[in-house]
Amino acid sequence: MMRVIKGAMHRLVARTLALATSSFLLNPSDKEAEPCQEFEGLRVETEEGNQTMKYSNINLKTPFAFSFFLFSSLILSAYSQSESEDHEFNYDEASGRGPSRWGLLKPESKNCSIGRQQSPINIEAVQVRSELGDLQRNYVSAPAVLRNNTEYAAVVWLGNAGSITINGTVYTVDNCHWHSPAEHTLNGIRYPLEIHIVHTSDQNQTAVVAILYRYGSPDPFIDRLFGSLKTLKTKDRPLGPVNPESIKFPGRNYYRYKGSLTTPSCSEGVVWKVFQQVKTVSHSQVDALKHVLPPQNRNNARPTQPLNGRPVLLYDPPTSGN
Ligand SMILES: [Zn+2]
Repeated sequence: MMRVIKGAMHRLVARTLALATSSFLLNPSDKEAEPCQEFEGLRVETEEGNQTMKYSNINLKTPFAFSFFLFSSLILSAYSQSESEDHEFNYDEASGRGPSRWGLLKPESKNCSIGRQQSPINIEAVQVRSELGDLQRNYVSAPAVLRNNTEYAAVVWLGNAGSITINGTVYTVDNCHWHSPAEHTLNGIRYPLEIHIVHTSDQNQTAVVAILYRYGSPDPFIDRLFGSLKTLKTKDRPLGPVNPESIKFPGRNYYRYKGSLTTPSCSEGVVWKVFQQVKTVSHSQVDALKHVLPPQNRNNARPTQPLNGRPVLLYDPPTSGN
């Protein structure tokens, strides 16, 4: 969300520090390192972000020089990581940065490899629970933008667009975004599209509501964004006030389980609610959602993850169908 600001600060800090530290760098041939290559966890990028300066052989002549260099490196490292973290992974296994390697890309993402409660999952055997209750939601209209973060297209709310409540915890809606094909599968069936409506509590817990789509009639919510979507680049498009309720949740029944974010860091403890009823979307809508993304992210579904004994509950109200 703060990428633009971070990017500008990063460039400013990078420019200043590149100038300041360049006098300490003694071996020009070391500049021919791979782009974004990391050296023992510290990274130095030039303004263009395409040259890395190796400083393992730096001759640090004075304590002041060493202190300044260390301090500069730490600041720059922090900015570099915060700006680039979202783009260090993709969905193309051939790139070496695809889903099977996400957990190896950085320490903070290790859950992608070793986590035991990961998402998405194949939803198959379920425990029916009529007492779970309808999804309690209290959405309102708030200004939103359409954003392309290169991993997916998203509607991001800039104001408070309301919340859902699960077991007494209030989760405020943050964004909704699309994965194509769908990430969750139902009895092994993978649908062409899935929307994630992401909510966060005051304690920074995450709850995601998911809806699956099969091909059919166009989806009215996507239809409203369609004009902006087709030409969406990396600059946010203002959408005016958007009420999350206009996504139109299908029916009352939902699956619930405990999982993770489906992108790095793959953090766990995420409450998932996946609606049982599947909605429809047109081919051209799915195509538009895919084609604003770079080729390596056009199939932005993480493979399903082992259940590892987790229960999947199905809310099926007794009055369903009446
Ligand atoms: Zn998602």
